[in-house]
Amino acid sequence: MEVAATTKSVNSPNRQYTLERTRNIGIAAHIDAGKTTTTERILFYTGLIHKIGDVDDGNTVTDWMEQERERGITITSAAVTCYWTQKPEEGLYKTFSGLANRINIIDTPGHVDFTAEVERSMRVLDGAVAVFCAVAGVQPQSETVWRQATKYNVPRIAFINKMDRTGANFDNALNDLRKKLGAYAFPIFLPIGAAEEFSGVVDIVNQKVIVWGPGDVSNEGLKYEISEIPAELKEKAKTALADLIDAVSNKDDVVAEMILEEKPIDIVTLKAAIRRLTCKIEFIPVLCGSAFKKKGVQVLVDAVIDYLPSPLDIPAAQGHEPGADTKVEVPSDDNQKFCSLAFKLWTDPFVGKLVFFRVYSGKLKKGDTIYNPRTRRRERVSRVLIIQGSERKDVETTYAGDIAALVGLRNITTGDTLCDEDFDVMLEPPTFPEPVISMAIEPKTKGDREKMSEGLQRLAEEDPTFRCFTNEDTGQLIIAGMGELHLEIIRDRLFREFSVQANAGAPQIAYRETITAEAEGEGKFIRQSGGRGQYGHACVTVEPNEKGKGVEVKNAIVGGAIPKEYVPAVIDGIEEAIKGGVYAGYQMIDIKVSVVDGSFHEVDSNELAFKMAGIFALKDAVRKASPILLEPIMKVEVTTPDEYQGDLMGDLNRRRGKIQGMESKNGQTIINSEVPLAEMFGYATACRSLSKGRASYSMEPKTFEQVPNGVLNTILDLAKSKPAART
Ligand code: GDP
Repeated sequence: MEVAATTKSVNSPNRQYTLERTRNIGIAAHIDAGKTTTTERILFYTGLIHKIGDVDDGNTVTDWMEQERERGITITSAAVTCYWTQKPEEGLYKTFSGLANRINIIDTPGHVDFTAEVERSMRVLDGAVAVFCAVAGVQPQSETVWRQATKYNVPRIAFINKMDRTGANFDNALNDLRKKLGAYAFPIFLPIGAAEEFSGVVDIVNQKVIVWGPGDVSNEGLKYEISEIPAELKEKAKTALADLIDAVSNKDDVVAEMILEEKPIDIVTLKAAIRRLTCKIEFIPVLCGSAFKKKGVQVLVDAVIDYLPSPLDIPAAQGHEPGADTKVEVPSDDNQKFCSLAFKLWTDPFVGKLVFFRVYSGKLKKGDTIYNPRTRRRERVSRVLIIQGSERKDVETTYAGDIAALVGLRNITTGDTLCDEDFDVMLEPPTFPEPVISMAIEPKTKGDREKMSEGLQRLAEEDPTFRCFTNEDTGQLIIAGMGELHLEIIRDRLFREFSVQANAGAPQIAYRETITAEAEGEGKFIRQSGGRGQYGHACVTVEPNEKGKGVEVKNAIVGGAIPKEYVPAVIDGIEEAIKGGVYAGYQMIDIKVSVVDGSFHEVDSNELAFKMAGIFALKDAVRKASPILLEPIMKVEVTTPDEYQGDLMGDLNRRRGKIQGMESKNGQTIINSEVPLAEMFGYATACRSLSKGRASYSMEPKTFEQVPNGVLNTILDLAKSKPAART
């Protein structure tokens, strides 16, 4: 199916793996569904690692941070590159059979405290394998990950893992996918047996069976055999194929037309149609297996090649000219100017600071100079690396569609565009959720303060949902993040990577401020007391921004009311005032600010005066724009035996919770609710005691909402009397 016509124009003759044979995929799932194990098996079967690692032994490749090994969860998104050749002799009618494909895998975390990691990797993926547990089906976190994939238009295939576990039920998991995620999902493989009896899969498209084993488990992994479908499975396999063709024909014109004309649907046509629909996110092919038992992994990698898009199968990335709204397309093409997105900063223990980046167009050679439109700075690229298992490999050139890492660059943060200087374009950076929790932190040993703030600064550079700053009123260092576990891991890393032991205060809610009306404001900073004076004057307008869109500050001055060289100072002042808050001293979100007017003085104007004018103008405008206080609202899902449902709901109500829905399944009730985070402290204990230890719950940040009047005054008083609480 390789498209010869496009090959010539977009691929550089020097590249080893063409764009058509490149896949950038993520493996996304609920924690514990088996992402790490699946990734590990893929790396093993693609020949990257020579001993299969088991998560339980703590020696897997992608979980390279020590905490992850200890906690058994994946926190960082490590990008790993591997290669896969589909074997034509197996007669499975592969898309690119016989040619090697390059697959870049970005391991995405499943724990809710690390949604930023998921968000940022989704931004650079072309496709994802969503891993589900065949016993638990769709879990709350899988829904979050799924929503994020939808938000970033990431095509997906689903892998129902853990078919070997007692209680594994493929049909239930499939129903969950359809019901809870609204997925148009159809199996392309069916399991043969379940739990102990799970031995292989029926390949519906090819009408064959694939059986793994017997036995183990050597370092070579399990071999599989492809054979004809045995009599007892024939009927089932035929029905599944008919259902699959039917499902595809509902969405795909080519297949629908062939059916109308009563033409038989051959395998190549069917696979091509599944691929088309999957790439358009109109169809989810469903596979199954047991990563742990090494069954179903090779066909999963085949499916990645067959059905997930190459960079050419998805719409070109969009950027805009810096400081303007003019849209610019960034097509996947080696012959265009270079443009890439830095999506992850990582301090590697061996090579130092790495900047992971995804190339959208053009190519980058060692020794080239890249340009960062945000900072307007140039930097020279001394080394380009790709990560293969635990090895770091130097490469000379990276091409469109590649994911690689740069070494030794400064002044780059997550979300920066890196491009050719004469291709001045900014790609849409990923959006990150606001921190919901904060705490004061101080070093155990006084002398460590500097080392600690340097460490925190470095960690904040890597992780955009982690913030640290000094509280102006108290001088305390404050850290803020997505949950207690998130901040605990930060403290852990401080100790391990920077040898600083830190004490932390009690967790505080990260309230936010916003405005509800439009307003204008004016700020003047004028001093004339002999000698050279100060003169800065700025006028701004403010308006509410769409929820979740964050802060946008732009220069809308026409005609030089403020000279060009002072505008950045005004914007700095505005941004500083937004960080510090106006209403109650909490950071502002979802606000649009335009600098519209001002004036200057030939002699007395300077940057400082304009920065102060910016601060005053913003504060003036916000005070007139009906500011409000926002609090983080959590999505809380409680699972309990039916008999405790009443007590638990009563408790959630007392916590200002809103019940969103309830579901009953096998004597268990699942209560879905939204509760202010401020009311959730101590919930673990309450939940336990109300249910005699039998209920469990999960919680994740959902949104920010206005603090109701009844609670508002307490918070405002607290903010006044204890400024340390404000962050
Ligand atoms: P992650 O949190 O999604 O990365 O999940 P892991 O890969 O760390 O797996 C979580 C746990 O499930 C570990 O104890 C694995 O050994 C186990 N596990 C993963 N895949 C399978 C599987 O296919 N079958 C069984 N029985 N256990 C599995």
